[in-house]
Amino acid sequence: MITSNMQQNQLATPGTRVMIREVGPRDGLQNEKLILPAQIKIELIKRLVIAGITAIEATSFVSPRAVPQLSDAEAVLEGMHELASGVILSALVGNAAGVQRALGVRQPALQEIVVVVSASEAHNQANLKRSVAESLSGLDEICRLAAGRFKVRGAVATAFGCPSQGWISSGDVFRVIDSMMEAGIEEITLADTAGMGKPEQVKQLVGEVRERYPGVTLALHLHDTRGRGLENARAGVIAGVAVVESSVGGLGGCPFLPGAVGNVSTGKLVGMLHEMGVETGIDLQRLSQCVWFLEEILVRRLDG
Ligand code: ZN
Repeated sequence: MITSNMQQNQLATPGTRVMIREVGPRDGLQNEKLILPAQIKIELIKRLVIAGITAIEATSFVSPRAVPQLSDAEAVLEGMHELASGVILSALVGNAAGVQRALGVRQPALQEIVVVVSASEAHNQANLKRSVAESLSGLDEICRLAAGRFKVRGAVATAFGCPSQGWISSGDVFRVIDSMMEAGIEEITLADTAGMGKPEQVKQLVGEVRERYPGVTLALHLHDTRGRGLENARAGVIAGVAVVESSVGGLGGCPFLPGAVGNVSTGKLVGMLHEMGVETGIDLQRLSQCVWFLEEILVRRLDG
């Protein structure tokens, strides 16, 4: 009986559904040496939608000098006019100037922006060139600019550890979420930017965040730097996250974190969730076709 109870604990309740948010077009492609043309990015996103993915972080509005791979954000989003209804496209912004660019996009395809602030002072300085306090003080303006046009999501980077700063406390994470909620943000992503998280830690932090912020929609953004991406996703889903972020073929990393490798692979994640009895609505065969499409373009093997 003890064994069967333990096994039941490991599995999701039958019928559980988790949304997969595909971040390959943003987090993945920003780390490729090859800068892909907008048309290829548009084609990739359309193929991901055909595979059943309904939430895609498509690009980012950050400095084209810092991230030249995504300097065509407007062109990519304006090429998205034929997407099926029910597909949610988002774009990352670092500050109010990013929101201004997003507001200039002519097509209504972009529905969400995600503002990222790091729990780590050192990573926030490297990634956004300002202190955590400065980033937090800019949240009100970002939400004010976006009001009536975009839903704003918040992402807490390095929530499970930072190679420059080391241990991140729950307090470091709560400080960022508190400010995000005060600014009116109701969906939060806990990002394991450096892939330092462990399943126990994911379970603990997800539990603490759900208890402290009961109404919040919670997502996990996982990197596979230490090979724990899938285990961490499993722990997060059992602990009750509604969304998991991953990238097609395991693309990704962080240009401001040396050695950070890709996001957890969408194919492997979906395969694991289906085995757990969790529904995603994603067709693995069609998803494989997206990986092959990218492998041909990048001329290398990808993950999953
Ligand atoms: Zn990432």
